[in-house]
Amino acid sequence: MSNKCAIVTGASRGIGAAVAKELALCGFGVIVNYNTSQDKAESVLEAIVKNGGTGYIYKCDVSNRDDVDGMIVSALKQFGRIDVLVNNAGIAQQKLFTDITCDDWSRMVSVNLGGVFNCCQSVLPHMIHRKSGKIINISSIWGSVGASCEVHYSAVKAGIIGLSKALAKETAPSHITVNCIAPGCIMTDMLTSELDNDTINQLAKETPLGRIGTPNDIAKAAAFLASDGADFITGQVLGVDGGFC
Ligand code: NAP
Repeated sequence: MSNKCAIVTGASRGIGAAVAKELALCGFGVIVNYNTSQDKAESVLEAIVKNGGTGYIYKCDVSNRDDVDGMIVSALKQFGRIDVLVNNAGIAQQKLFTDITCDDWSRMVSVNLGGVFNCCQSVLPHMIHRKSGKIINISSIWGSVGASCEVHYSAVKAGIIGLSKALAKETAPSHITVNCIAPGCIMTDMLTSELDNDTINQLAKETPLGRIGTPNDIAKAAAFLASDGADFITGQVLGVDGGFC
């Protein structure tokens, strides 16, 4: 197995799958985390191995701290180190603010923001000990500008930005960087399950670069933030949104 190790949460589909494959091409052994889509995670790993990469799949609900701790212990057992953590796992929901239930709110917070908290807190003692590491958190443009009918989603994505900026300051003395990527509209299951075709076409028109992004657009940005070339970049939010914001 490769010596360098990256964990990508929510890597069974969409953006996470593309990030996992790209980091494998960059020489990282990759832990392909999934929650429910085991077959898809296996396909991602197959693609990684076919391209000469290494890694394994790991089932873990990022909102469950015991699950997350188990994933970190397993990674350390397999690779002896964790160089990069990409907090990508996430859920979305379209609802009027007045229709959001307390359960909707709790689930949004516990998966999208609690997941980032769990994974960062679980991996950091190891990274601090090594005085090295890179954390990349996937936020959203809606975390900066807000989206109608996605108040809970926008709130947690804004929370990820605040968490990242604060954590970047706290971990900088240990040479650990923490950055966010704020994707625009990216063609994945999340987009197509929440929005109809007309809305997606309208969003493409409103994007200055005139198209919906691809998971690979985000993967390339993540690979840069995971590379030595980004050693002096921390606490930043990199918009990968075709000029939307
Ligand atoms: P997606 O296609 O719906 O994929 C979501 C991924 O997250 C899946 O791999 C899913 O795993 C995983 N996941 C969900 N809940 C999980 C949990 N509790 N524990 C572990 N994994 C979990 O979504 P995507 O579009 O690729 O989105 C990836 C990230 O980008 C999310 O954080 C999203 O908010 C953000 N983002 C997306 C867009 C966009 O336009 N697509 C824009 C801005 C930001 P299983 O299938 O295995 O359950």
